Amino acid sequence: MQAALGLSVSFPYCNSRFSINASHSLPSFMFSSSSTIPLNLTCGFSKPLTYRNWKMSYVVCAQKKNNDDDGFYMRKSVELARKGLGYTSPNPLVGCVIVKDAQVVGQGFHPKAGQPHAEVFALRDAGDLAENATAYVTLEPCNHFGRTPPCTEALIKARVKKVVVGMVDPNPIVASKGVDRLRNAGIEVVVGIEEELCKSLNEAYIHHMLVGKPLLTLRYSLSVNGNLLDSLGNGVTESGGYYSRLLQEYDAIILCSSLFRESLSVDSVPLSQEPGANQPIRIIVHKDSDCRETTASEEAQQGIETVSLDEINLDAILDYCNRQGLCSVLLDMRGNCSEYEELVKEGIEKKYINKFVTEILPVWNGCTQNDPLLQLKNLDQGVKVENLRSMASAQSVVVEGYLNFK
Ligand SMILES: [Zn+2]
Repeated sequence: MQAALGLSVSFPYCNSRFSINASHSLPSFMFSSSSTIPLNLTCGFSKPLTYRNWKMSYVVCAQKKNNDDDGFYMRKSVELARKGLGYTSPNPLVGCVIVKDAQVVGQGFHPKAGQPHAEVFALRDAGDLAENATAYVTLEPCNHFGRTPPCTEALIKARVKKVVVGMVDPNPIVASKGVDRLRNAGIEVVVGIEEELCKSLNEAYIHHMLVGKPLLTLRYSLSVNGNLLDSLGNGVTESGGYYSRLLQEYDAIILCSSLFRESLSVDSVPLSQEPGANQPIRIIVHKDSDCRETTASEEAQQGIETVSLDEINLDAILDYCNRQGLCSVLLDMRGNCSEYEELVKEGIEKKYINKFVTEILPVWNGCTQNDPLLQLKNLDQGVKVENLRSMASAQSVVVEGYLNFK
């Protein structure tokens, strides 16, 4: 095995969660690797990044139906929550609507970790009208002092009459305590309205909270005859395209160095083009130490932190992401796909890959020699694919689903 393998982590400076400047020390972390090679860390700024959400199947139509007021206002709250997409990790996306006499009198969403929660913004918006009103919240209100005071107390103080909750918070320090607190204060509480929708809104947060690791999604492109492709469909990287939306949704993206071998320019870095999108942290895996040496100085200029290890694996990468409070990681098979073989193998063997997004392009081609998907193709254990969804355009079909290794 090579004496030195490398992992580069790029910090887009417009990513407020991890903004760093020359005088600021890097976030501290430690890899689980037993490497004897010293960590080689450099930091700075990457170039300004431009801006673009997918989950078309999650797009909510908040159309009011008779006798379904609770569902209607909860779907509206979900719409609001999605405004924080890409900014709230490790916190969840949360939206809140205050309704009185069938009128929305206040609304809010959680914009960013460290900022007030959705309920606070909605109550401020409603003012005195919150009294005897109904509050719709996509996630159970918190009942603990974190960086902000508990939302349960704000709702009690505002004298709301009823609280409708989309789902109970899986966070053990919240779980049902918020609901209990509200009920003990004499407020009527309904739980589980549009629960599946609310869960899909925060799948990465829920996974991170329950499993203790980021949600890991494998993305790749296929020809119609089932071979791996290093290409994307026309228009998918533009605003509204599924790829641009994925980048907005994920906290980090793992890429291989071959994408950057020719030129490490901002043009070669995948960016979300959604308006105002927060860009994911880019984790660039180098399997070739010689190649790394030649690009190291250029990487430093681009504001890329470099970490050298004697072994690169998903454990190290996911551990790093966990320490940074990142809840979702996209393993994006672009560039020389054979560079992902070990990671995909590990992801399957250790059951780390939770989800896949596959783009099928209108291409018929020959089989590649090194097929990193061989690990997937040769799986003899039973893996269930659940919640399969698809969307089609004139140029490609995108299929996504979840892997259940049980
Ligand atoms: Zn709260």
